[in-house]
Amino acid sequence: MTNAFITGITGQDGLYLSELLLAKGYEVYGLIRGQNNPKFDLVRRTVPDVRLLTGDLTDLSSLMRALNVAQPDEFYNLGAISFVAYSWENAHVTTEVTAKGVLNALEATRLHAGSDVRSVRFYQASSSEMFGKVQDVPQSESTLLWPRSPYGVAKVFGHYMTINYRESYGMHASSGILFNHESPRRGEEFVTRKVTQAVARISLGLQDRLVMGNLDARRDWGFAGDYVEAMWRMLQQDEADDYVISTGETHSIGELLDAAFGAVDIDDWQRYVHQDPAFFRPAEVDLLIGDASKARDRLGWKPTVTFGQLIAMMVESDLAEQKALAGR
Ligand code: GDP
Repeated sequence: MTNAFITGITGQDGLYLSELLLAKGYEVYGLIRGQNNPKFDLVRRTVPDVRLLTGDLTDLSSLMRALNVAQPDEFYNLGAISFVAYSWENAHVTTEVTAKGVLNALEATRLHAGSDVRSVRFYQASSSEMFGKVQDVPQSESTLLWPRSPYGVAKVFGHYMTINYRESYGMHASSGILFNHESPRRGEEFVTRKVTQAVARISLGLQDRLVMGNLDARRDWGFAGDYVEAMWRMLQQDEADDYVISTGETHSIGELLDAAFGAVDIDDWQRYVHQDPAFFRPAEVDLLIGDASKARDRLGWKPTVTFGQLIAMMVESDLAEQKALAGR
């Protein structure tokens, strides 16, 4: 029996990764934070076989206790404050969780593993936001990092700390530099889900305005279900390493609007969409497009869902959800 321990179990990736590992016969433990966590029921319903342990990435001793129970062979650190826009307003909290939380996770793993430091394989959820003001097009593992938000800066800390634990202690610690990845489970504050949910509501006559920020930014969007497979593959390698995970395609927010409204046969979306400076960011990441050739060559990984399929899948799921909520 292989045991896995996941932080960020309540998030999109935590749920997909749990499903993947449970299907492979793993015993899966998830760290859940806080009193009366509102996501508790969601996790129970979606992945009832996951064993939940209470703790917090900012609390090293809670991590040590959880690892003692879980006895993991693999540790997936997906927990973070992950919304870029929020990170300017809450830079210190973002730093505590998204940066220093990684140090706690690595240190807890090292202490737990004791003399056999490679007995626990570690995955760090790094992010394409680390590329920020991009220094290469496309971005690869060797592209210079230039983060543009407190979130991006925090992720850079976690990325380098993971490499540092690998180099200092010989830990099997890998960092996955994942580009934006979405699904029907994506949080409603992120742009894809915000758009697909609004499009579903507009097509059902439940809403007639969608207020957006910058429509020119470009992202490399993939399907989260494909991306958790890459995380698992990284930990099955003999040697730990860093990998970019992306589709190699980039689309603007305007193209996202085209695709989402197109899925419900609305061509003149401009009449529903308004812009508000409140949704613009103090510094923008203008263009992300990843080069995942290392993951393709070494992990045999490639994405299976296209941008068009991803957005259609999300609109369809939001239509079903909105119809159910409206009692239709
Ligand atoms: P991020 O890449 O992690 O910041 O993911 P998001 O989904 O939050 O944002 C992707 C891009 O969409 C960024 O360039 C945002 O500036 C842009 N964007 C434009 N309008 C909006 C909006 O209303 N909400 C969000 N979240 N992003 C928006």
